Amino acid sequence: MTRTNQPSCRFCGTRLQHTFVDLGMSPLCESFLPAEHLNQMEPFYPLHVHVCEKCFLVQLEAYVTPEHIFTDYAYFSSYSDSWLAHAKKYTDQMVNRFSIGEKSFVVELASNDGYLLQYFAEEHVPVLGIEPAANVAAVATKKGVPTLVRFFGRETARELLASGKQADLLLGNNVLAQVPDINDFVAGMKILLKPGGVITMEFPHLQRLMEENQFDTIYHEHFSYFSFLTAEKIFAAHGLTLFDVEELTTHGGSLRIFARHAEDSSKPVGPCVTGLRQREESAGYTRLETYSRFADQVKETKRKLLEFLIHAKRGGKKIAGYGAPGKGNTLLNYCAIRTDFLDYTVDRNPYKHGRFLPGTHVPIFPPDRIRETKPDFLLILPWNLKDEIMKQNSFIREWGGKFVVPIPEVHVHE
Ligand SMILES: [Zn+2]
Repeated sequence: MTRTNQPSCRFCGTRLQHTFVDLGMSPLCESFLPAEHLNQMEPFYPLHVHVCEKCFLVQLEAYVTPEHIFTDYAYFSSYSDSWLAHAKKYTDQMVNRFSIGEKSFVVELASNDGYLLQYFAEEHVPVLGIEPAANVAAVATKKGVPTLVRFFGRETARELLASGKQADLLLGNNVLAQVPDINDFVAGMKILLKPGGVITMEFPHLQRLMEENQFDTIYHEHFSYFSFLTAEKIFAAHGLTLFDVEELTTHGGSLRIFARHAEDSSKPVGPCVTGLRQREESAGYTRLETYSRFADQVKETKRKLLEFLIHAKRGGKKIAGYGAPGKGNTLLNYCAIRTDFLDYTVDRNPYKHGRFLPGTHVPIFPPDRIRETKPDFLLILPWNLKDEIMKQNSFIREWGGKFVVPIPEVHVHE
């Protein structure tokens, strides 16, 4: 197959000619459909992921503009208890480690509904959220978290700087992956960061995605997938040094990187940085062959999941989904799992109730539906929250119901 408009790497500009994985055509994973749209055409876009042979940034072309994806966003961070607990713990940790207090200024990029900054605000720390989705930003403002409805980059950073604002702590959770112009975004952080300030960013770790087969975390909203080595390269190109890194269990395994100005010698580069760098190098993350093996593993997972579902349906079993996360939509569309396998799914987010999953048109109900219909199997789509979900829904065992976790490969919890 030849293409005339071959894409180029969003970081280094090299022409992209190596496939990481091709998940076919998929709708936008947060475009939940109201009933009146079910008979209309639905746009599908490629989920064809490339890896750059020069900087090893794994990336998806921005087939859809972020303006289209993020201006009316269905994801409210505050609907997950464990994510709120994560945010609270982070706040305490930053307050202690970097002496963040009433005289500091904390800025969060993609601050969503204020799920995190609310904890700094409780400690009387001045905060500012920057969030492009007006509907979620409005919720944050109501909570007392001042929020600027904007995309972030050099321009926004310069405007804030011009009004005398620079951040002591600049943070972003799960936003780095969602930025089409990564160079503009990181350059903006360099501008907005106070001379002695600290940046923390959390993003899913590519090594975990690959080793644990988390291909369903690939969707159109996620433009980039980072190893530590590649993240370090990108920050260094903009005068920022990664001086610490933590490995987190969130979103199936994330990194929290700590960055500072390259000129700021008060924070030496710690042993976790050199340790992780070496680990990735010896695991082959600077060699193309390591990346090209991933696609076969993904195909095998699809075959195994379909085998399980076909067997269960042949046995007359009822299967329902739990959750309606973005990753679920990648999985269901790639595997072509519709209401022929899944009767319905449930979600705690009322925005989704009465709507249908994009592409597969599986209906979404409130969680009460599970007690009413007593399914034999509950397929947990947000597998990163599986412990929390199995605990909340342990009542399905009353009628012999079992939990099924699809990733890294299909597993039934008796
Ligand atoms: Zn590149």
